[in-house]
Amino acid sequence: MQKKIIAVLLVLASLFVVGCSSNEGDEVVTIAPPATSTPAPTTAAPTVAPTVEPTPEAYVSPYTDKIAEMQAENSDCIGWIAIPGTNIDKPIMYGEDFYYSDHNEQKEKIVSGSVYSHYNALTQNVVITAHNSRVSKTMFHELHHVQEVNMGETNCAYDDCNAKLDKATLPDFSTVEGRTWDISVFGIDAQWEIFAMYETEEDEPVKTLEYNTWWPYGDNGETSYYLTDKADIQEWIDYQLERSDYDFGVTATTEDQFLTIYTCGDYSDSSDAQSRLYFFLKQVNPVSTLYGGGTADAAATPAADAAEATATPAA
Ligand SMILES: [Zn+2]
Repeated sequence: MQKKIIAVLLVLASLFVVGCSSNEGDEVVTIAPPATSTPAPTTAAPTVAPTVEPTPEAYVSPYTDKIAEMQAENSDCIGWIAIPGTNIDKPIMYGEDFYYSDHNEQKEKIVSGSVYSHYNALTQNVVITAHNSRVSKTMFHELHHVQEVNMGETNCAYDDCNAKLDKATLPDFSTVEGRTWDISVFGIDAQWEIFAMYETEEDEPVKTLEYNTWWPYGDNGETSYYLTDKADIQEWIDYQLERSDYDFGVTATTEDQFLTIYTCGDYSDSSDAQSRLYFFLKQVNPVSTLYGGGTADAAATPAADAAEATATPAA
C-alpha cells in the first residue's frame, strides 16, 4: 500500500510539460518542472574542465571574455553559444525550475527567455534549449534557417518570416567547418560536430523529448531516461542517426561528450505540441576524455561522479 502511494507521488512529481503555445504571437515554452519535493539535480555545478595538455594547437575559446563579463553580471551564466551566419550569439544560463525559460540574462521576466541548460551540471549529454521566437526571429528561431537551407529550402518555412536563406553565409553541413560549432558550456571550451538533426511533428510522443534529453525523471516517475549503460547510450546514438533528416556522414561513440540543442517547431501553437527541431552534437576539439575517449586519464573522475549524482533523483 505504502509502495503504491509513493509511486503515485512520484508520478505527480515527475509531470512536466515542455510545449509550445502562442502568446502575443510569440512562441512560449511552458515547463512545469518536477515538484519541489523531487529536487532538480543538485550536484554542485562542476567547473572542472577536461584536462588538456597545453600545446601550441590547444583550442582557445572565442568566448572567454564574453563569459567572464556575463558571469560578473550574473553568475548563472554557464557558457556561450554562437552559430555562424545567424543572429544566435548568446550566453547560456542555468536556473532552477527552468527559470530562464521566461527570464532574460538580467533576470527580468520576459516571454522569450534566455538560452539555457536543462541541467545544472556537466553530464554526458548537455542539453541546451531556447524558444523559437518566431515573431522577433530571435533566440533559436534561426536554427530553423540552418536546418532549412541544408534541406534545400531557399526561404524560411515560417510564412511570417519567409527570410531568404543565404547559402553562402549559413552553415553548410556538407563541410566540416559548417557542421562544427564553437560552444563553451560547464567549463568545456570546445568545438562540437553535428551528427544528427531532425524535426518532430506535433503529435510526437512526449517520450521523445525525455529520451533525447536524458530526462532523469522519466514520464511515469519510475523510468529514468538518464543513460549510463554503454549499450543504452549506443542505442541512443543509433536512434538519432537513424532518425536524422540529413546524412552528416559522422558517427558517434559511447565515449563521446554529447550536446543536444533543441527548439520548438514553426507551426505548433498548442501547449502540448511536441514539434521540435533537434540537433545532436559531439565534442571534437578537444575530444572529451571524460568517458573513456581520447587520452582518458584521472581527469575523468570528477565528471563521472557528477553525472552519477545528477542522475540520482531519478532513482
Ligand atoms: Zn525564419
